Amino acid sequence: MSVQGTAGDLHGVVENRLRQADQRYTAGRRAIISLLVSAGHPVSIGDIADRLPGVPRSSAYRHLTDLEAAGIVRRVTANDEFTRFELAEDLTGHHHHLLCLSCGKVIDVTLPAAVEHDVTAAIGQLAGAESFQAHSHRLDILGLCADCR
Ligand SMILES: [Zn+2]
Ligand SMILES: [Zn+2]
Repeated sequence: MSVQGTAGDLHGVVENRLRQADQRYTAGRRAIISLLVSAGHPVSIGDIADRLPGVPRSSAYRHLTDLEAAGIVRRVTANDEFTRFELAEDLTGHHHHLLCLSCGKVIDVTLPAAVEHDVTAAIGQLAGAESFQAHSHRLDILGLCADCR
């Protein structure tokens, strides 16, 4: 998963989206975005607490909720126990997830282009049959990771 453009561009985009939501790009939010970029995979509140000791858990959760509402961050979840957060797909690129139901590990995966194309076409047909206009899809695979199986 690679962030499109430079980190500077990304911070500019984040700042703009927050401004449109009447929110400020505070130091705490900036630290969380930088962590999401450098981690390269979805992170939990616990990961953020470990790696950003200056940001209290309650603030981290509030920042993430605000960033989610502004369309900058999205939730990745196998179940309520293991909620993680990542940058929105339009900031990073379309991908899918392998979610471990036992330890909560999340692995980002990209389908081969031909398969992604077929999936998109099949979803378009399903949606079209309901006169539904499909904009995007999420496909997360649930199971057990190499350590847990
Ligand atoms: Zn696992
Ligand atoms: Zn896809």
